Amino acid sequence: MEDWCWRGAADIARAVAAREVSALEVTRAHLARIAAIDGRLGAYLLVDEEGALAQAAAVDERVARGEPPGPLAGVPVGLKDLFVTRGLTTTAGSRILADWVPPYDGTAVARLRQAGAVILGKLNMDEFAMGSSNENSAFKPCRNPWDLARVPGGSSGGSAAAVTAGLCALALGTDTGGSIRQPAALSGCVGLKPTYGRVSRYGVVAFASSLDQVGPLGRTALDCALALEVIAGRDPLDATSIDLPVPRYRDATRAPVSIAGLRIGVPEEFFATGLDPEVGERVRAAIAQLEALGARVVNVSLPYSEHAIATYYLVATAEASSNLARYDGVRYGLRVPGRDLIDTYCKTRAAGFGDEVKRRIMLGTYALRAGYYDAYYLRAQKVRTLIKQDFDRAFTQCDAIATPTSPVPAFRIGERAADPLAMYLADIYTISCNLAGLPGLSVPCGFTREDLPVGLQLLGPPLGEATLLGLAAAYQGATDWHERRPPLA
Ligand code: GLN
Repeated sequence: MEDWCWRGAADIARAVAAREVSALEVTRAHLARIAAIDGRLGAYLLVDEEGALAQAAAVDERVARGEPPGPLAGVPVGLKDLFVTRGLTTTAGSRILADWVPPYDGTAVARLRQAGAVILGKLNMDEFAMGSSNENSAFKPCRNPWDLARVPGGSSGGSAAAVTAGLCALALGTDTGGSIRQPAALSGCVGLKPTYGRVSRYGVVAFASSLDQVGPLGRTALDCALALEVIAGRDPLDATSIDLPVPRYRDATRAPVSIAGLRIGVPEEFFATGLDPEVGERVRAAIAQLEALGARVVNVSLPYSEHAIATYYLVATAEASSNLARYDGVRYGLRVPGRDLIDTYCKTRAAGFGDEVKRRIMLGTYALRAGYYDAYYLRAQKVRTLIKQDFDRAFTQCDAIATPTSPVPAFRIGERAADPLAMYLADIYTISCNLAGLPGLSVPCGFTREDLPVGLQLLGPPLGEATLLGLAAAYQGATDWHERRPPLA
């Protein structure tokens, strides 16, 4: 049964609908693997065994009655613990929400359930999605499946680790500055951050609302395409969701995928100082592979990306300081019995937020202060426009842009934890994409000499998801990096 933990989502859904296997069997195989391995890995914050078995049984009943069981029939899914789930504790990786049990499902979650997915549980993450290593989780570290002494990346570290380790076939994450793509690269799976607004953010705990976007992590481009098809699309509950039909993304990934004539832009700025030589080598080899498959490589330039990190840390902290004001100790989270409201308020806020979250709230509040707004937030928004214009220009010359996802492979737990600025550099290649609202994807493109995964990042113009998925599918069709399994029993 263990084998089902390595079949992709598309294959599981097909087999369940064809009665080759029951959703219950697939679910049990995953629950058994989680029980055997996750004590060492730390990917799950909560495993909903009872709920998962009930959902699987319901899928099997539908199949038995001859009803269509849905495009994700019986597919085991894990959710970053930022997705609001009815009746299931949703912590955002924070003590301040440690005992919050939401009364509703967010839109992406509801759409997964509707499609027949089986939700196994909630995945580890950096507190409020702030971080690049999962070390800011208030509960426990999550480890890299390839080397348990290293980080899985973040903030969707649990999502990437769980998918790579065969503890779910698909996971949902969120990406504000790289939090889907960077952990996908460091852990070794595919991660897709869609165009801003492509997927509803309703029922997703907010970090920085103009940057946050929901997306899938899976072992193949095909599986991510399948998941995106289910979760994307207009949602009346999210005014920023895009009102355009959702394409059949799967068609873009179906073999044989032709990428002949596609123009791949390579920005030299993304291969300069700070890039680990082994990562650079692997990424250049992947670009050469795309060229061998018929793509055409052109040089492009993104000069303002140099300012992306500074811009991001003003915009993101400003928006976070406003979003997190709702955790005032009254509406959610800890209640301290026998204490009056003011006392509870002080205790909850002090004990509730971790250091990184406090740092961001202070930075953001400072940037938004009367008298400082023009100098910081407004200025950052202007630079953001320049970064967006860089991409607009580049996409007149190419169909997609290829870069490394992360400048370095997975680092050791503790190595960067004491130095926030070193940590912020982990997102140097992923952040401009969020500032510009564009889609971006990371696909495994090899391993370092120490057997750590390397990710190729592909960026596209607005709504260019199908192009990115097609390129990734063509690349995976010609390589087998995604078939390697991490050394976990
Ligand atoms: N690592 C970045 C941060 O700490 C991005 C996080 C994210 O995308 N959620 O803000």
